[in-house]
Amino acid sequence: MRVVLVALFLWLACAGQAQAEVAYAIDLSAPEHHTGRVSIVFPAATDLPLEVKMPAWRTGRYQILNLANGVRDFAARDSVGRPLRWQKVDKSTWRIQPGARGPVSVSYEIFGNELGLRSRHIDDSHAYLNASAIFMYSESTRGDPVSVNLKLPARWSSFSGMDSPAPQRFTAANWDVLTDSPIEAGPHRLHRFEADGRSYELVIWGRGNHDATRIVADLKKLVPTARSIWSGYPFQRYLFIVHATDGVSGATEHLNSTVIQFPRYGFGQRDRYLGFLATASHEFIHTWNVKAYRAAGLVPYNYQSENYTDLLWMAEGSTDYFADHLLLRAGLIQPQRYFDNLAEAVDANKNRPGRFVQSAADASFDEWIAPGGNRAQNASVNIYSEGAIASWALDIALLQRTGGRVSYRDVHEQLYRRYDWRRRGFTSADVRAILKDLTGADWSAWWTQYVDRPSDVDFQALLAPVGMRLDLGGQATMAQAGWSASADGGAMRLTAVAKDGPAWLAGLETDDVLVAIDGKRVTETRFATILSDYQPGNRVAVSIFRRDELLEKTLTLGRGPAGKPAVRTVANPTQQQKALFKRWLLIDYPEG
Ligand SMILES: [Zn+2]
Repeated sequence: MRVVLVALFLWLACAGQAQAEVAYAIDLSAPEHHTGRVSIVFPAATDLPLEVKMPAWRTGRYQILNLANGVRDFAARDSVGRPLRWQKVDKSTWRIQPGARGPVSVSYEIFGNELGLRSRHIDDSHAYLNASAIFMYSESTRGDPVSVNLKLPARWSSFSGMDSPAPQRFTAANWDVLTDSPIEAGPHRLHRFEADGRSYELVIWGRGNHDATRIVADLKKLVPTARSIWSGYPFQRYLFIVHATDGVSGATEHLNSTVIQFPRYGFGQRDRYLGFLATASHEFIHTWNVKAYRAAGLVPYNYQSENYTDLLWMAEGSTDYFADHLLLRAGLIQPQRYFDNLAEAVDANKNRPGRFVQSAADASFDEWIAPGGNRAQNASVNIYSEGAIASWALDIALLQRTGGRVSYRDVHEQLYRRYDWRRRGFTSADVRAILKDLTGADWSAWWTQYVDRPSDVDFQALLAPVGMRLDLGGQATMAQAGWSASADGGAMRLTAVAKDGPAWLAGLETDDVLVAIDGKRVTETRFATILSDYQPGNRVAVSIFRRDELLEKTLTLGRGPAGKPAVRTVANPTQQQKALFKRWLLIDYPEG
């Protein structure tokens, strides 16, 4: 075994030396136990120690993941296979003492069984490899070309946005391109299509009720609509990787590819399938917004620690905002569906007390420590949902102030033209400069109101210029407690308690287990209808278990909304409203 390894290192070392590249290899021939054997040849040839590192996070997920935690059995050798001394100097860094001049070979085993993080997942059905979670790098060679060779089980193939000069071999300009070009490997079928002069590929892992022909047909309608925002494409070839699976969901954008995790049986029913297409649209838009151009705090990426920026609301929220627009222009959703989605976004925002606490800029900066659960709703905003609302507000303000001449699309086209990620990133001052260039006006006051400070958005005012209105339903009559709960044994566990709502004021908190109201047992079925027996203003006795101790609280019920808000057309739209509507969504104003 040792002889084989040394021979492999020698071959890799020669390959590395000849091409002055960092040569990566991974052996996945025994994937059942979630492991792969990694070998890397660094063309380092100085007298200084070589420091090799695993990233602490991966791009697209703004959270410290400490990806070095999957490394085992590390070894380093010189160009003739002699062991080199090394020591770990921090949680992610291995310092290798120099031997004779020449390339340094590193090897280790990587454990990959993290599907939902979309970092590394290896089993006997496939491998998903994000280089940040698989391959070590060195700052001193970060700009050098890289190659990746894979050894795979029989009948497996590999797929990536990287160039592939030979089967199971990929090359990229440098480490940053490698980390943003995940590799999917397995016995998968590749589906190809062309659209607007670009090549697209789709590869699906996992059995389910997906229909690749239908997905290809829909993606083919979707992708050219990006030209409604940007004048060109930052890629020649683009790869959609789909994980049809269970227990996890979500997606991640990369330079010219995406990985989308979706319930394996979620592709059949139209409404759920539209969720898949909305995710595909979101990730595809990211190819420009946050990949082709990105905030200065993300250029270059620092893989060892948090990358701070006050603009993640634009990276995620504006991407979300545009996602439905592309579906609409592609004819994949109808205007009514778009208005229903807008109404849902309004409803969620109005039910989020955190909008009075945190600004979009602050949520961006603190995304790395974003709270979960109840505190998220009560004390923070979300870079996706509230970022989308800020984007919507900016779009309408631009259209209104310029008589439809400038829209938010133009801002993103300017970002695309001016801020190539390989050279520089942009700041919020740069975005305001673009706004000024486009409109001749100063946008500082708008920015302060909607981005830098918590904002309570007037949605009627957002909809009126484009001939739409918010219908808030009839008179509010239902009693409400301002809580959400889920079944816990034979009782109900509170999952959310809205700040300053009736339950909050009664001293209830998340994780309280509700067992009775007015002395009568509360089950899941009973919980669903119990408040309809009361009127707003009624006082009720609430029995809860808190850490297994029984407590009694008195709660005064509040007045809830009669129904959900709806976005509708105004009664008599003016020509100007219809014209602005068309400039807003690039579809005709809905008549009748
Ligand atoms: Zn996103």
